[in-house]
Amino acid sequence: MASPPEHAPLAERVEELLAAGGPLPIVAAGQPVLRQGTEPYDGQLGPALLSRFVEALRATMHAAPGVGLAAPQVGVPLRIAVIEDPAPVPEQVAVARGRVPQPFRVLVNPVYEPVGGDRAAFFEGCLSVPGWQAVVARHAEVRLRGADERGRTLDEVFTGWPARIVQHETDHLDGTLYLDRAEPRSLATNEAVAALWAQPTPHAAARALGFPLPPDGAQLSR
Ligand code: ZN
Repeated sequence: MASPPEHAPLAERVEELLAAGGPLPIVAAGQPVLRQGTEPYDGQLGPALLSRFVEALRATMHAAPGVGLAAPQVGVPLRIAVIEDPAPVPEQVAVARGRVPQPFRVLVNPVYEPVGGDRAAFFEGCLSVPGWQAVVARHAEVRLRGADERGRTLDEVFTGWPARIVQHETDHLDGTLYLDRAEPRSLATNEAVAALWAQPTPHAAARALGFPLPPDGAQLSR
């Protein structure tokens, strides 16, 4: 079935993007599409084009590589994101950060709310802010509601690193970048993080760079 006429421009935009083949170009900070929020997905692309778009998002996320990608990051203002994290990190890091493998998922019209009051603060980065990382204190546990790519209801509690990923990607759909929530004094190049701040937690970075972390006890180590 054809998309409703009023939605044609977005479908055309996606068709153009896919026509080039291969990973999609990733939009960097400074482009308005990352800041203007998204339309809820209600069939604008139709099932076949949605399926092709989701596959392109997945391929782009893999090629980057990244553990999540939101539609605005490829210039498409629709409320759709993909996540997937094989979690290839040392055991000590995985335990401290709750970085368990997250299978591939498509998030359609996701919204999250915190579960409990715990916060977890770690360095994170963004494909739309290449070269940099910063510490963000996020909800340690969230309830995510929405749908999958087939319209099936999504209502799930995420913890650990997957909770961080779904918050980061859902924020993109609201025009929010992780830097908006980050500790400004924690801003570090990828090189600095690799050389100095690869510890399982950001406590040493907090002391050296002078930024606060959530109170002891609120910092989860699952
Ligand atoms: Zn991002």
